[in-house]
Amino acid sequence: MPELPEVETVVRGLRETVLGETIARVTLQAPPTSTVVSPSLARGSFARALAGRTIHDVTRRGKNILISLSGDITLWVHLKMTGHFYYKDKTAPVEKHDLVIFDFQSTLNGNPLHLRFNDYRRFGRLRVFPDSELWQQDGLKNLGPEPLEMTAEQFVLLCRRSARMIKPALLDQTFVAGLGNIYADESLYYSRIHPKRLTDSISKKKLIELHGHIQALLRRSIELMGTSVDTYSGVNGQTGNFQSYLKAYNREGQPCERCGRILVREKIGSRSAHYCRACQRIR
Ligand SMILES: [Zn+2]
Repeated sequence: MPELPEVETVVRGLRETVLGETIARVTLQAPPTSTVVSPSLARGSFARALAGRTIHDVTRRGKNILISLSGDITLWVHLKMTGHFYYKDKTAPVEKHDLVIFDFQSTLNGNPLHLRFNDYRRFGRLRVFPDSELWQQDGLKNLGPEPLEMTAEQFVLLCRRSARMIKPALLDQTFVAGLGNIYADESLYYSRIHPKRLTDSISKKKLIELHGHIQALLRRSIELMGTSVDTYSGVNGQTGNFQSYLKAYNREGQPCERCGRILVREKIGSRSAHYCRACQRIR
C-alpha cells in the first residue's frame, strides 16, 4: 500500500499536471463502492458533482489525497492497495481497471492528455464532500499528527500516553498519520527497537532517536519518489527508487547488514513485521 512518501509523490505529480484545470466531464466504470458523494450535494451523482469545477489545490493528509475544487468542495482520494493516477493521452485505449476518467476543458480544446484513476484491486475510494463536512468524516477526523510536522517532544508524549506495542502503534493512523509497514519496519530497525516493545517502556532517548529516523527515512524516500515494492508508481507511471535502500522491510531470510544474523518476518498484531532478533532485542 502506498504510504506517506508514495502518496506525497502522487500529490506532487497531480499538482504538476492538473492543478488549475477545470473538469469538463467525468466518465465512470467504477463499482458503486468506489465513489461516494455526500447526500448534501444536490443531484448527488459523482460525475455531476464534479463537472465544471476547477482544481484549486492538491494536498495530502496522512495517506489521503485532498483535491480542493471550486465551489468549496473537495475530492478526497485514498489509493488503498493499487489505486493509481495516470495523466495520459485521451486516445490511449481505456483499460479494464481505468475506473474514473477526468476530461478537462483543456482536453476538449486541444490538450491531448486527461486523467485516469486506475485501480486493479478496486479498494481505492474517491469521495466528494462539501469542505464544511470533510473533516467530520471517519478516516479524516481522527487522524494523528503528521510525522514530518511532529516534534520529538510531541512524539515522546504520544508514546507515553498509553502502553501499547510500538509497531502496531506506528501503523495506527489515529496515532500518527501516514506510516505503513515499510517505514515502520525501517525506522524500528534503524533505531534498534523490537517491534513488540511497549511504547511507554522505551527510553526517551530511544524515542527521540526513532522520531529522527522516521523523519529522515520519509524525507529521503520523498526525494527518491517513494518505494516501489509491489505495484506503486507515480502519476506518470514512474517507479520510486527507495526500495534499493531498504534494510529490513521484505528482507526476511537475508542477513542483517549490521550483525549478519538472518532477518525474520513475524506476525505482530495483524501485520507482518520484519526485524533483526539480535539488533532489536526485547527483554
Ligand atoms: Zn542485526
